[in-house]
Amino acid sequence: GTPPLRSRLSASHTMPFDPHSIRDQFPILASEVNGQPLVYLDNAATVQKPRVVLETSLAYYEETNANIHRGTHHLSQKATAAHEAARDRIAHHLNAASPDEIIFTSGTTDGINLVANILTGSISAEDEILISALEHHSNIVPWQMLAQRTGATLRVIPVLEDGTLDFGAFQDLLSPKTKLLAITQVSNAFGTPVPVKDYISAAHAVGSLVLVDAAQSVAHKVIDVQDLDADFLVFSGHKIYAPTGIGILYGKTSSLENLPPWRGGGEMIKEVTYESSTYNELPFRYEAGTPNIEGGIALAKAMDWLSDLGLPSVAAHEQLLIETAAASLADVEGLRFYGPSHRQGSLSFNIAGIHHYDLGTLIDQMGVAVRTGHHCCQPLMNRLGTTGTVRASFAAYNTMEEVEKLVNAVKKAAMMLA
Ligand code: PLP
Repeated sequence: GTPPLRSRLSASHTMPFDPHSIRDQFPILASEVNGQPLVYLDNAATVQKPRVVLETSLAYYEETNANIHRGTHHLSQKATAAHEAARDRIAHHLNAASPDEIIFTSGTTDGINLVANILTGSISAEDEILISALEHHSNIVPWQMLAQRTGATLRVIPVLEDGTLDFGAFQDLLSPKTKLLAITQVSNAFGTPVPVKDYISAAHAVGSLVLVDAAQSVAHKVIDVQDLDADFLVFSGHKIYAPTGIGILYGKTSSLENLPPWRGGGEMIKEVTYESSTYNELPFRYEAGTPNIEGGIALAKAMDWLSDLGLPSVAAHEQLLIETAAASLADVEGLRFYGPSHRQGSLSFNIAGIHHYDLGTLIDQMGVAVRTGHHCCQPLMNRLGTTGTVRASFAAYNTMEEVEKLVNAVKKAAMMLA
């Protein structure tokens, strides 16, 4: 096919990046909270949706809605064509070798559970499954359950004090027993970027499969699955300006083709008798039941929208916001940042003597939405000796004025709570 990476990279840099004109495309950002204009800095939890994506969802139901792959009637064919065009678009965005490698799921969690279940027969009691200390609960618990089903051992790549992973310790953990590495590309708790390509090639060298959790990278990084060479990569639509309830599992054909199905039902079969069934080809074998048709189409539209902005420009803008926020907060007495100085998407911190929840609640009253707590990373919080942090996370539509509001709100709250 065409070389999408270069065209995606060159889409940027043509115009100066203007977050204000981007904001105007997000109806919800005009809201007020507690009498203040909303400052939405909880983007790592979910991002807001641009009007063009919302309109795509509405237009689908107004103009196209029918069940796919079933009817011969006009609307069914129209819905099927739109659904498959979305799959092609998403394959293109990830530079997948074929759209057959794109499986629609309901989100990151669903994709990880799918992979954990279809690998059951490939794992035995002597084997090891490797995860990292940075993982979200959804990239821990399905592997614990797989280990319990098979008797395999779950091992954890340790995290260093600065919130980065210990690559040397990872290399020591690798062995021919390692059957799967499941690793995040960016930490949702600290914003730590993980050089997953290095981890993938080292894991492949011992014969292990690799799953990349791209939930926190997909909105901030150009992802090229062929370049990464991951076996599986998962993310949620709602973290990349698309609706909730839709997600993607990318699975390399050679890694997926010999694995069994997981959920049984319509679409995933070729022939069914009461005695037995034969299964459909990729990707349909993993798509039992009616999918989120509108969600997939809206996700493809969100990717168009983001590519038109230029993902590298968006990332550079977010980087500037994070660095400015970190520099401006650095002189707050007792403030500790988590994660390395180079962060992607999220800035996580605590102030000595102040509970993260109290700080979050006070700044919410000033109109600033951040996340507080363990960010679904309890083992990581335990490891760094805290119950949680305050996390400000950024998107294309955030502005320098909002960074200033965050900093002022944190400083004011810290004084009130001191
Ligand atoms: N993995 C990471 C790194 C995340 O940040 C999240 C969401 O917060 C998930 C997995 C789970 O995503 P979802 O709840 O959309 O399935």
